[in-house]
Amino acid sequence: MHVNDLVVAGFGPSGIALAAAVEDHDDAHPQQPPLTAAYLERAADSAWQPYQVLPGTDIQHHFLRDLATPRDAASRFGFVPFLQQSGRFYEFTLLGGYVSRLEWSAYVQWAAEQVRRRPAYHREVVSVEPVTDADGVVRTARVVSRDPRDGSRFEDLGRNVVIATGHRPYLPEVFREAAGERVFHASEFLLRATALPAPPEDRPVRWAVIGAGQTAGEIVLHLHGSDPRSEVHSLVRHAGFRMYELGHFSNEVYFPKETEYVYGLEREAREQVLAQARATNYSAVDPDVSTALYAASYQDRLTGAHRLTMHRRTEVTGVDVRPDGVVLETAEVFTGAKQRLEVDAVVLCTGYTEPRLPEPLAPFASLLACEDDGLPVVTRGHRAVTTDACEVGIYLDGVTEWRHGIASAASFSQMAVKADAVHRDLRGQLARRRAAAAVPAAAPAAV
Ligand SMILES: Cc1cc2nc3c(=O)[nH]c(=O)nc-3n(C[C@H](O)[C@H](O)[C@H](O)COP(=O)(O)OP(=O)(O)OC[C@H]3O[C@@H](n4cnc5c(N)ncnc54)[C@H](O)[C@@H]3O)c2cc1C
Repeated sequence: MHVNDLVVAGFGPSGIALAAAVEDHDDAHPQQPPLTAAYLERAADSAWQPYQVLPGTDIQHHFLRDLATPRDAASRFGFVPFLQQSGRFYEFTLLGGYVSRLEWSAYVQWAAEQVRRRPAYHREVVSVEPVTDADGVVRTARVVSRDPRDGSRFEDLGRNVVIATGHRPYLPEVFREAAGERVFHASEFLLRATALPAPPEDRPVRWAVIGAGQTAGEIVLHLHGSDPRSEVHSLVRHAGFRMYELGHFSNEVYFPKETEYVYGLEREAREQVLAQARATNYSAVDPDVSTALYAASYQDRLTGAHRLTMHRRTEVTGVDVRPDGVVLETAEVFTGAKQRLEVDAVVLCTGYTEPRLPEPLAPFASLLACEDDGLPVVTRGHRAVTTDACEVGIYLDGVTEWRHGIASAASFSQMAVKADAVHRDLRGQLARRRAAAAVPAAAPAAV
């Protein structure tokens, strides 16, 4: 069976940015054999956040921070070549630099289509297993994947494996058993919302939206604005929606030099830096969304419509899913005052979590060097350090916010330079392995 130089799990932005770095390098060095790669993606395509592309929403980063431009401004994978090919270049320049989420998702999908080595879609990577040679050394990984549609299984072999599977949707404990067609995470929003059973007797749909981040704000506005009869309940644990920290200097945490700084810090200091940076990206909304939410809430009071209710300092303590709706039990965070809320559906805008070690890597766990707290030791080039018995390069791409800082995971800001770091490291790994294979360890030193 063919052994690839590289097998990548996940063909979202991180996986595509890496493929772009690989192919740009191959194009620039036609005299060298191209790197052989297999790209495996669970979904049917590479559409970016497909169930959260709401009309009227825009991206949170500058469009030049795309999948390739910060690495190589002449790359064929950049947003500007995409615009040129779309025929909208001049029209775009009149928009003041705002890019809708719809257009960014189209750009990500377009970039995926520019990759010559075609990805395999409908392939969920379930495990990455060591293949041990006769001398006891692991030089190859077997990447096992399954087609989520029919469960059929596939295997790909690789000298290097990149895990670029992103962050996992987070469901707080109280909602876990209730998850289904009426209680669902925002990552499934458009899919589930369109399939929601219609309420009886032409009653308006009643929604509860849990959370105070950008996604929560956008979904509240969408539900309130797209159906003039819907009733929307927004439940937040704080005093209300907060705004992102948008200061120029605070936002330099998304620059590559910050990753350099964070990577050099000890664990405790890294956690403090991350805690300070969180307000630039998490649990807050941008000024447009904040203004629109306040205006909608004001309008609701003015008209007495009671279609938008802001439940502040409110925590959900119980969830009861019934055939015709959901009953939420809530408590005021400080007074403990209890309430009951009946709705048709609950949207959980409760964020994402980063795996300590992505699940498919469990079979490799004993071959990875670990820090005192059990987390893998990861290099600046995103490679998990392995024991001497393993020569396979295992890369954690977009899942090491805890190690590389806020810009390295849930942001496009460093997507291209992160891909560059991974790509350079794995080319180095391959070169070292080829050199070692050409000169056996027992051979006398050349003079
Ligand atoms: C609604 C929303 C809006 C956002 N807006 C912005 C923004 O404007 N600007 C910004 O900088 N960031 C934004 N982000 C952050 C965004 O998540 C990242 O910028 C980016 O999507 C991360 O890319 P990724 O490839 O690392 O992870 P993901 O985008 O999560 O992609 C991971 C891919 O891996 C696939 N996958 C998962 N598990 C497996 C498996 N086992 N086998 C095979 N494939 C698998 C998934 O299907 C997916 O395609 C937003 C996030 C959300 C949720």
